[in-house]
Amino acid sequence: MPINYTYPEYEVLRNDDRCISCRVCDRQCANEVHSCMENKKMVSDDIKCVNCHRCVALCPTHALKIVKTNHTYKENANWSAKTINEIYKQAGTGGVLLSSMGNPENFPIYFDKILINASQVTNPSIDPLREPMETKVFLGAKPQGIERDKNGKLIPNLSPHLGISMPVMFSAMSYGSISYNAHESLARAAKELGILYNTGEGGLHKDLYKYGDSTIVQVASGRFGVHKEYLNLGAAIEIKMGQGAKPGIGGHLPGEKIIGDISKTRMIPEGSDAISPAPHHDIYSIEDLRQLVYSLKEVTGYKKPVIVKIAAVHNVAAIASGIARSGADMIAIDGFRGGTGAAPTRIRDNVGIPIELALASVDTRLRNEGIRDNVSLIVGGSIRSSADVVKAVALGADCVYIGTAALLALGCHLCRSCHTGKCNWGIATQREDLVKRLNPDIGAERLVCLLTAWQHEIKEFMGGMGINSIEALRGNRLMLRGVGLNEKELEILGIKHAGE
Ligand code: SF4
Ligand code: SF4
Repeated sequence: MPINYTYPEYEVLRNDDRCISCRVCDRQCANEVHSCMENKKMVSDDIKCVNCHRCVALCPTHALKIVKTNHTYKENANWSAKTINEIYKQAGTGGVLLSSMGNPENFPIYFDKILINASQVTNPSIDPLREPMETKVFLGAKPQGIERDKNGKLIPNLSPHLGISMPVMFSAMSYGSISYNAHESLARAAKELGILYNTGEGGLHKDLYKYGDSTIVQVASGRFGVHKEYLNLGAAIEIKMGQGAKPGIGGHLPGEKIIGDISKTRMIPEGSDAISPAPHHDIYSIEDLRQLVYSLKEVTGYKKPVIVKIAAVHNVAAIASGIARSGADMIAIDGFRGGTGAAPTRIRDNVGIPIELALASVDTRLRNEGIRDNVSLIVGGSIRSSADVVKAVALGADCVYIGTAALLALGCHLCRSCHTGKCNWGIATQREDLVKRLNPDIGAERLVCLLTAWQHEIKEFMGGMGINSIEALRGNRLMLRGVGLNEKELEILGIKHAGE
């Protein structure tokens, strides 16, 4: 075994005057950082710490603090401590580096360089506490015209669509990558909020069938857990072609996580690796995609809208233009900051493009081609607040997906170690003792609280702009201004610079 040159990233500081050796930290830590010596003194193995804060949060005497270790590599502007550490890791293991959650690198976050307008004097603002304010949105192809029968009565020609109470849904997270309790929390919150959650590619647990009307069922390249009943249970079907955190590559849930209900739900044998191929092996063109879209429509009696999800990549606008012609009702675009349970670090940090640029260029292209109303656009990839939602809608989105923000509401502390399966907060794990730490009653309540708060804030933003519906905000880029952006960035975003 090669020598391990890596140093601990974090240091566990224990105040020995406060510590009462109760061993709560020891019992709570799935990474086995804490232990008790014979003399009852508690000690820590810092190299195992992932900084998930479980011990800090539950220590009854507040004796613990986790800090970033302050030892110093001989780093410079080119060779950062992170890069040096990663080389040590690979030289020690020979393996692909794995990471969880979204791209943390220092690329521009365009949402933070965009400011929202407010009315002053003319076009007065609206008080959302006193005036009606519509956050409901309908997703799906818009009717192309009005048809009447010979008696002049309107002929309803609506294609299948979704009506949700606000322009936010929970993005795809599979049962297997997250726990049953996390899935149940999302399902219950979605039902209560009048929005939808998404099964991800792991199928749907039978006990969650009752939330079918609040569920988007996903069909990915592995086709795990896909059957006729599953497809008909959901309110919509999503074909996953790509994912923002790992564009162009497939997924892999290791065999040790394919146990019990997960193996039943995915319809694969216990202990076998769940490998989703990088491409769908029956899709090599828009025509092939169209066949799958219509197969799914056929099997659901043309009653369910079909979403096609892609990662935001360089030619995203051309790809979206093809998808809009494939018969899909919605396109979901996932930006390069989108979270994941596990992705190769190098892919996650170097592939894809920011969602803000992808969204603006897709919306512009579909408008220019006169096909914008054929599809709705759903965007995800690090939507962090109601302000991001409002900016995304003004850039052209009909709705957003949130994933990481939803997990944070459930208690995630962004320790970025979901791929280890030892989530101390009961979210990204299948270990029974850990799963039960997340109470679905509390989880659902926290998600409902989060999005209720966002809905209030969205109404305040809209009222401030003198706009009283999401429909009037969608694609209204006049409501946005850029700060510190160059001409090209402003051109792609389709917005003016602040001061113009
Ligand atoms: S939880 Fe706190 S008080 Fe209990 S053993 Fe750990 S550090 Fe000491
Ligand atoms: S879900 Fe769990 S393991 Fe993943 S980042 Fe959050 S706290 Fe860490």
